Amino acid sequence: MKDKNFRMTKKRKIIYNLLQNTDRPLTAVEIFSILKDKNEDIWLSTIYRTLELFKNEGIIVQTEIPGSEISHYFFTDESHKHYGVCMNCQKVISITDCPLDSYKPSLSDSDFQIIDHRFTVYGYCSNCNKNK
Ligand SMILES: [Zn+2]
Ligand SMILES: [Zn+2]
Repeated sequence: MKDKNFRMTKKRKIIYNLLQNTDRPLTAVEIFSILKDKNEDIWLSTIYRTLELFKNEGIIVQTEIPGSEISHYFFTDESHKHYGVCMNCQKVISITDCPLDSYKPSLSDSDFQIIDHRFTVYGYCSNCNKNK
């Protein structure tokens, strides 16, 4: 576990462990119902706040599928990563290279200094492709 700038409370730890041990991205509502089934007493608003915190800390990645308003969250242990997201099953597949390795954006401000970027591709995973 990497160093964190926040206190890992009991409730945060429960959400952390759940995301770490689930192999597919979860929505806040899914996390809520899984924890409810385990008789954990955590409010949905607490889950949203915790997910926001984890996202800002780089512990989880939030994916949004175009056309859907629901965000999925999944655990990551790498700071620089790009992903492909399956629009059917929400499976997340790592992209092993970075587009900025070979692409230099032409910005109209020539002194613009890039410090961060995002890149995600959307489509259908091999499994969903097969079953279509
Ligand atoms: Zn899929
Ligand atoms: Zn990159």
